[in-house]
Amino acid sequence: MAEQGKTFRLEVITPDAAVLQEDVEFVAVRALDGELGIMPGHAPLIASLDIWPLAYEAGGKRQRLAVSSGFLEVNNNNVTVVTPAAEKPADIDVHRAEAAKKRAEDRLKSHSEDIDVERAEVALKRALCRLDVAQD
Ligand code: ATP
Repeated sequence: MAEQGKTFRLEVITPDAAVLQEDVEFVAVRALDGELGIMPGHAPLIASLDIWPLAYEAGGKRQRLAVSSGFLEVNNNNVTVVTPAAEKPADIDVHRAEAAKKRAEDRLKSHSEDIDVERAEVALKRALCRLDVAQD
């Protein structure tokens, strides 16, 4: 049973699944305008998320998810993250992320006019985020 006042609900939702529904003591994310740490009783807030690991503490244990942009809402001791993609370390296919990283790096190195540089940079960032979280 969650201890009243010391925890809050964290939900991470993607178009495919509810990736996480857990009572947590702390959440840390990187929003587009900076790092954000959330403790119980945080004021209401909506923030756009960067492609970056989301860290949380549940039962005193620090864990992470790879989160690929999206939004975070804090309201009434609930934190909801709605994101195109989020993965737990065990669900990350490292070979797939390595391949995505290489593809993006090759595109960026090619300096071809056909390359959408921003798209390749964002794909690279998603792959690096997954490879980082997969090490947990
Ligand atoms: P790829 O080029 O390998 O498809 P991507 O960054 O373009 O990678 P996304 O569009 O971010 O992939 O994600 C599409 C779906 O695939 C999401 O459900 C996401 O969780 C999942 N996914 C993407 N890469 C991985 C991975 N390395 N391991 C596990 N799931 C992944």
